[in-house]
Amino acid sequence: MNQFSYQHGQLHVEACASQDLAHTYGTPLYVYSRAQLTHNWQAFNQHLPKPHRACYAVKANGNLAVLQVLAHLGAGFDVVSGGEIARVLKAGGRADSIVFSGVAKSHAEIEYALDVGILQFNVESLAELERINQIAAERGTSAPVSLRVNPDVDAKTHPYIATGLEANKFGIPMRDAVAAFKRAHSLEHVHVVGVDCHIGSQLTELAPFLDAMDRMLALVDELAAIGIEIAHLDMGGGLGVTYDDETPPAVADYIQAMLAKIEHYPQLALYLEPGRAIVANAGILLTRVEYVKPSDKKDFVIVDAGMNDMLRPSLYQAFHRIENTSTHQHGEAQKPCDVVGPVCETGDFLGQERKVKAAEGDILAVFNAGAYGFAMSSNYNTRVRPAEIMVDGNQVHVVRQREQLEQLWQLERTLEL
Ligand SMILES: *Cc1c(COP(=O)(O)O)cnc(C)c1O
Repeated sequence: MNQFSYQHGQLHVEACASQDLAHTYGTPLYVYSRAQLTHNWQAFNQHLPKPHRACYAVKANGNLAVLQVLAHLGAGFDVVSGGEIARVLKAGGRADSIVFSGVAKSHAEIEYALDVGILQFNVESLAELERINQIAAERGTSAPVSLRVNPDVDAKTHPYIATGLEANKFGIPMRDAVAAFKRAHSLEHVHVVGVDCHIGSQLTELAPFLDAMDRMLALVDELAAIGIEIAHLDMGGGLGVTYDDETPPAVADYIQAMLAKIEHYPQLALYLEPGRAIVANAGILLTRVEYVKPSDKKDFVIVDAGMNDMLRPSLYQAFHRIENTSTHQHGEAQKPCDVVGPVCETGDFLGQERKVKAAEGDILAVFNAGAYGFAMSSNYNTRVRPAEIMVDGNQVHVVRQREQLEQLWQLERTLEL
C-alpha cells in the first residue's frame, strides 16, 4: 500500500498529480496523504487491543489536521510540552489519552497537565517527581505517574537520536529505579501507574527493543516483590522506517514480539509512542529546481527548499530519497549531483552525490518527509515556511497556509530614532 505512485508520467499523491499541487499551492510544499496516515495508524492499532494502546508522538508532526485525523481514529498522544498538550486538545484529542514525556517539564506545564487531566506523566527525574507531587498537593489532587527509566541499551542509531544509554540526559538510571519507585510510592499526591522508557529513534532492529523490554520486565518483577504493582509498561517510540535501504521490522512483528514477552503478565498494558513510523512515509516535500549549476565532477541542483524547510539531512546527515516528479526525467543522470537549497550555509543540502536528472523548473519530490520535516522547520534566512496540504482521494485541504513575510516580523519592534 503506497499512496505515492507514478501514474500518467508523473508522481501522484492518492488521486492528485504532484505537479498540479505544486502549481496550485506553490513550492516548497509539504504534501500529506490522509490514506497513508490512516493506514499507518491502523497498522499499530489493530495489533494493540485494549488495554494496550498507541500514543502518537506529536513532535514528529504536530499539524492540527494530522492530530485531528489520528484523534478521530481514537489515537492517544505522547507530548513533550504544554504547547503540544494544547495542540492535541485543539485538534479534538482527549486529555485522558495524553502521556506527557520530556526532561524539563516546567511548573506551569505541570499545572496545566493536571488541570486538563492527562493520562500520565512520564517522570524523568526525582526532582521532577517531587515537583509534581507538590503541585498536585496544592491542587488537592493526585497525579498519575510513570517513571522513565534509562535501560542502558544501545539503540544502534545516529548518536543524536539515541536516548537509552547511560550517557544520555533522559530518564532515571536503572540502578536508581527501585529507590525512585519507592519514593514515588510513598508520596501522597502521586500514584504510580507505570514504568516507561524510550531508547531512541529510527531503530531498524528488534533486538534493542527486546533487550530493553527484558530489563523493564525485570524491574516490574522487582517492584512487584516489594508491593508496587505496575499497570502500564510504556516502551516509547523509535521504530524506524525505510529512507534508503534500511529494513526495519514490520509493525506487526515488532508488536507481536513485545506482546509475547508480556504473555505472563495479565495485569500489564503495553503502551507505545510511535512518531516517525506513523507519519514519515505519509508525507513528501515538493520543491522546484531554480538552477542547475554544472561543475567538473558534479552538478549542483539548486532547489527552492532549504535546510530551514527540511533540516534532517543537514542535522543528521539523514538520507531522503529524491526523485523527479516527471517520469520523463527518470533514469540516472550522467554526473552525480548535490541537491542544495538557497540557504547561506555549506550544510544546506537535501541530498548529496545523487543521480537525479533535473532541469530548471522541474518539480522534485523529497520522500518520507512527513516526520520531523515541517516540525523542525524555521525561518532562518528570513524564509517563510512552506504550506502544508493534506490530500484525501481527489480532494486537497490546505492544512497550513504558506507563511507571509509580514508575519515573520510581526512581533518585532524598531527603536524610536
Ligand atoms: C521522540 C519521542 C518519541 C517518538 O519517537 P519516534 O522515533 O518518532 O517514534 C516517543 N517517545 C518519546 C519520549 C520521544 O521523545
